[in-house]
Order: sequence, then structure tokens, then C-alpha cells
Amino acid sequence: MHLSTNRSAFFNHVAQTSDAPLAIEITHASGVYMYANDKQYIDCISGISVSNLGHANAKINEAIKHQLDKHTHLMVYGELIQSPQALLAERLSQLLPPTLNNVYFVNSGSEAIEGAMKLAKRYTKRQRFVALKNAYHGSTQGALSLMSDAYFSQAFTPLLPGISFIDQNNLEQIDCIDQTVAAVFVEPVMGEKGYEPCTLEFLRALRNKCNETGSLLIFDEIQSGYGRTGKLFAFEHYDVLPDVLVLAKGFGGGMPLGAFIASDSIMSVLKDNPVLGHITTFGGHPVSCAASLAALNCIIDDHLLSNIEGKETLFRSLLKHEKIKFISGKGLMLAIHFEDEVFCRKVIDACVSSGLLIDWFLYAPNKIRLAPPLIIEERHIQDICGIILENISKAMQP
Ligand code: PMP
Repeated sequence: MHLSTNRSAFFNHVAQTSDAPLAIEITHASGVYMYANDKQYIDCISGISVSNLGHANAKINEAIKHQLDKHTHLMVYGELIQSPQALLAERLSQLLPPTLNNVYFVNSGSEAIEGAMKLAKRYTKRQRFVALKNAYHGSTQGALSLMSDAYFSQAFTPLLPGISFIDQNNLEQIDCIDQTVAAVFVEPVMGEKGYEPCTLEFLRALRNKCNETGSLLIFDEIQSGYGRTGKLFAFEHYDVLPDVLVLAKGFGGGMPLGAFIASDSIMSVLKDNPVLGHITTFGGHPVSCAASLAALNCIIDDHLLSNIEGKETLFRSLLKHEKIKFISGKGLMLAIHFEDEVFCRKVIDACVSSGLLIDWFLYAPNKIRLAPPLIIEERHIQDICGIILENISKAMQP
């Protein structure tokens, strides 16, 4: 029998998403580090905002193992009472404002966005959506319809009709929200645009407009949730509440999990007309919910959010260089802006070779993404910034 290497199997049999995957074979990961056999990488992207508690977190692993010993999948979502789901939903409701007290569990971010879109249509009996230019809400066809960049969507048309796009933080364009709009989708800190926070004025104006028109305001906190910005949810930095909160990525504590959360009165429309209006087999998988609850408890019990601002300040103070134009973002969701994308790419590649895993953004190839695990320590931040600065200087050499 022919024994292929993992590398050749990856390239020959695992469907590829581009011609240039990182293709590093990670053998194990722990804390803020990933390892390719003996080579160590500092993980400065957390699997794109997922491993907020670091890799192989002992408390999350214990919760997973404990749940595995009790049961894994039992029945499609919504039928049987499964304690990890019930406990997680209750804990989230305690931590969220009273209008966000009902959790619909799914498997991923895209699926949570799909569910939120259907919920908004069903609740408002309207069909149109408003989204922000250069937002990313997922790859499924509904979520993809919310993507303004035709490069990514044109090959997959027809997508959903009736979507309007407005510029982030543009107060005038809010006027396009009217009584035909079912929902407005917003990332409070925009992810793939390159970690650009919304202004308070913008979110307040969106809230007021949605109140006026009866449209639902939906916050996609798939990247910004579960502590990434220094609050449990990014909307807590603003005095603006969404009608629907969408979570995934870090929410699963490293396991696949998504959710859309609303008030029980909004969510109840999914129960009838049609009955089973949104269903999922694996949504809210008990092992994922156990991991999510353990992650949430770690964030709160270990007071992880108390020093995220300090870590952000340290990054900002160390990352001083003539080539760095600006650092945007909030908490440990930071983007280093360069003048040109070729230079940025050169720095990223050099950092990866030097054992620092960083990357760019879908819509901002001139920026470096910094989204390390929240458990990162001062010494790691010093190492990371040292590697980045060294590679910026090297990239400047002819
Ligand atoms: N919304 C945002 C803000 C995201 O960053 C992502 C994933 N990058 C998604 C939605 C889609 O999530 P998933 O990949 O889990 O479908």
C-alpha cells in the first residue's frame, strides 16, 4: 500500500481554498504556541479570533472530556433537554441585557447569520436588508448576499435581492433604512475590513433609525465577542443594544458553535407558521456547549478582561516604526496599517518564517491582523512586537 505524507494528502485530497495555503503541519498546540514538530510558532491570530483562551486550555479540555463521558449527539436541536445547552443559554441570559434572553444554537458563524436573516424576515414580514460595505458575514448564500464586494459574490449569483450597502460610520446614508427593511447587519468592530470600530454616533443613529422603522438591529459579534475587545461583547463599549446578537468563533471555546440571540418574544416566531421554521441537526452540540460554558467561566472567573486594555496599550506603545502608519482596533483585535500591500505581505511572510503566525484581512491586504489569545502575557507581547519590528526593518532593505 502506498503511504502518502500528510502534506501530499493535504494537497491532493483536501479541497483547497486558494493557491497559497500556509501549509504548515501543526503537530500540537498549547497556550499561545503552536508547534510544527520542534518549530514553535507564537499564535497571534487565534485561528481568526477563536482560541481566545489559548490552545489546549485545561479547563475547556476537562469540560469536553467530562461531556464526552456523559453523551455526545442525542437528537436534532430543540427536542431533548441537554444540560450543557440549557446551562449555557441560562448563563448567557444572566450576563446579557434582559432583551437578549433567548438563544438559538447553531454550528457556525454563517449559519447563525442565516438564522438571524430568517428570524428578521419572519418577525418583520419584510424582505430587505441593509449591511455595511466591506463587512464579512459568512460564505453561505444568504450571508454572502450581505457582502458588498462583487469580486467575492459575482460568481455565485443570483443571491438575495433587496440588499443595500452603506459606508461604516456614514450618518447620511442611514436614511436609506426605511419601513421595507427587515434588519440592519453591523459588526461593531468590523473584522475583515481591518479591525475598524464603529463610532458611537453611528451605532446610536442606527439604533434610532431602526426604532423608527421597526427594522431589527443585528450585531455580528462573531469575531468581536467572548472578550476579544476587552468586554465580553463589543457592544458593551457603546450604550447601544442590538435586537439580535450573533456569535460564533471564540464562542465555542475551540469547538464549532454559533448562536443568534434575541428576546423570547422575537425568537418565538420561529416556532410556528411554519412550525420548525429553522432547524439543525448538530446545532448546539453538547460537547461544543460544554466547551463554550467552560470558556465563558474562564473569562469571568479568571478576570481575563481586566487587563486586555493594558495589553492593547503595550502593543500600541511597542509597535512604533516609521513604516507603521496607524494601528486601528480595540482590545486584542488590532490592525497594523502599512502604506502598501506588497510591503505588508513581505513582513507577514517573514514573520511566519520567524515563528510568528500573523496574517492580513480579506479587504485590507495592507494591514497585519493581531488577534492573539486573550491569555497572552507581557513577555509574549514583547516577543511578538520584537519579531514584527525586526522583520519590518529587514523588509525595508533592498
Ligand atoms: N461574521 C464574521 C464577522 C466573521 O468574521 C465570520 C468568519 N470570518 C463569519 C461571520 C462567518 O463565520 P463562519 O466562518 O463560522 O461561518
